[in-house]
Amino acid sequence: AKELGRDNFQFYAPEFNSRAHEKFVLQEELRNALARSEFALLYQPQVDLRSGRVFAVEALIRWNHPTLGVVSPMTFIPTAEETGLIVPIGDWVLHEACRQNKAWQDAGLPPMTVCVNVSARQFRERNLVGRVVNALKDSGLEARYLELEVTESLIMQDIELAVATMNELQALGVQISIDDFGTGYSSLSALKTFPVARLKIDKSFINDLAADENDQAVTSAVISLGQKLNMRVIAEGVETDDQVAFLLKNNCDEMQGFHFSRPVSAQDIEKLLNHKN
Ligand code: C2E
Ligand code: CA
Ligand code: CA
Ligand code: CA
Repeated sequence: AKELGRDNFQFYAPEFNSRAHEKFVLQEELRNALARSEFALLYQPQVDLRSGRVFAVEALIRWNHPTLGVVSPMTFIPTAEETGLIVPIGDWVLHEACRQNKAWQDAGLPPMTVCVNVSARQFRERNLVGRVVNALKDSGLEARYLELEVTESLIMQDIELAVATMNELQALGVQISIDDFGTGYSSLSALKTFPVARLKIDKSFINDLAADENDQAVTSAVISLGQKLNMRVIAEGVETDDQVAFLLKNNCDEMQGFHFSRPVSAQDIEKLLNHKN
């Protein structure tokens, strides 16, 4: 390494520094984001495939930073997980999603479920169930109108703990769905013990659904598997008519994706429901 010339060193160092610096800045800014009210939730409708009725919306977090701009959750959720900041941020998401859903009901919209993404670190917190209870109490939302989306890989990290927690949530009346299904690997024998209402087929299987025979095989297999286990099955990332046609033909229950609507603000959900429902 001593042999490396000055130029090599300089070539390497700034890149390293800027990456480390970037991460540091992100962490510091993330620490302040809650207090500065920089987070917002968008909502994406989930629709019944046959009737086209919106029965749920998924809450998706956005971080509007004054100088960094809109930071994607793909960028900051991993950092929030590493630092533990996901716990207060996730708490904010739960409260805000429940509050908004209750406000929609109070405004006279047809009752919908609000789906909230829960990350692994949040799920491992001993008091997740207590936090959910608080969000329901503070908002006045009935438990049956809240659903938590957890991933397969999260459950598989500690199946016993996950099943115990999911059972407690189910006893409260909160629903659970498995997000990104097909990308992790849950054993089929474990899957049947999960108290989950729905499977979400990952959008990586939906992308090329019209052309890719493997994706077609996986998608139709997941649909029948879920239904045989008494779960509803929703396809995510649905963008085209061809995808919708395939899902209908294969008896999928529900869909979510740009084909029906992108994630939109709470106000736009109201407008959209007044037009489409
Ligand atoms: P996810 O839970 O799998 O959410 C679906 C992602 O696909 C969302 O990206 C959504 O905007 C996008 N999407 C929806 N329909 C389509 C479509 O038709 N085509 C394409 N190409 N994309 C579509 P988003 O909002 O950027 O969120 C990314 C991920 O960040 C989420 O993936 C989730 O894992 C995480 N995330 C978002 N909000 C939260 C949150 O409040 N808490 C936690 N823990 N994670 C969150
Ligand atoms: Ca999700
Ligand atoms: Ca997903
Ligand atoms: Ca995903």
